[in-house]
Amino acid sequence: MGLQDIQDRIAKACAEAGRDAASVKLIAVSKVQPNERVRAVLEQGQRCFGENRVQEAQGKWPEFRESFDGIDLHLIGPLQSNKVRPAFGLFQSIHSVDRPKLATAIARIAQEEGHCPDLFIQVNTGEEEQKAGVLPAQADDFIAECRAIDLPVRGLMCIPPVDEEPSLHFALLAKIAERNGLNGLSMGMSSDFERAVALGATHIRVGSAIFGDRVPT
Ligand SMILES: *Cc1c(COP(=O)(O)O)cnc(C)c1O
Repeated sequence: MGLQDIQDRIAKACAEAGRDAASVKLIAVSKVQPNERVRAVLEQGQRCFGENRVQEAQGKWPEFRESFDGIDLHLIGPLQSNKVRPAFGLFQSIHSVDRPKLATAIARIAQEEGHCPDLFIQVNTGEEEQKAGVLPAQADDFIAECRAIDLPVRGLMCIPPVDEEPSLHFALLAKIAERNGLNGLSMGMSSDFERAVALGATHIRVGSAIFGDRVPT
């Protein structure tokens, strides 16, 4: 547990996979964590963080940004079309692009703002009804649609079903990315990031293994 331990495990997983450790970005998922824990991880030098709600991030990160330079914030949770503008002001990457309406809203605001966060398209690899993301069979079309409106699509993201072997989902996501010429793979969490690294993850999203269990609010 803890940041150093996770960094060591990433380095080991990379070595085993014959990958450069610099090819994997660790996103420390700070959602719901008390500010003291987040500050402690910032003080250890971590700058890349993930949040799953725009509103929670708004209440927390502007202040941290006054004390720490170079914070790189990733939105990893669902995004409402009407929250796109505030999301642009906070996040350098959005990992939850999953429907045409949202893609269109992002394109419009990118035009107005003159910049756009890096985008990852979320794929519902387990085809779970309650989960966000495009279905695997619709991914190619949706990626093409996003590119047609000039969105900066960097890669794909998935959250495997809790009760299935995640490697199957990571491999599926990697396959969809490869046939679409995408390099970014946002996959792997506290319990499975080493398997994600073995299958090509470029962005892993690790929360509780760094910060400890999330305290219920
Ligand atoms: C909370 C969350 C994580 C981190 O989960 P842990 O199991 O605490 O590592 C990763 N990805 C998403 C999308 C999340 O919502």
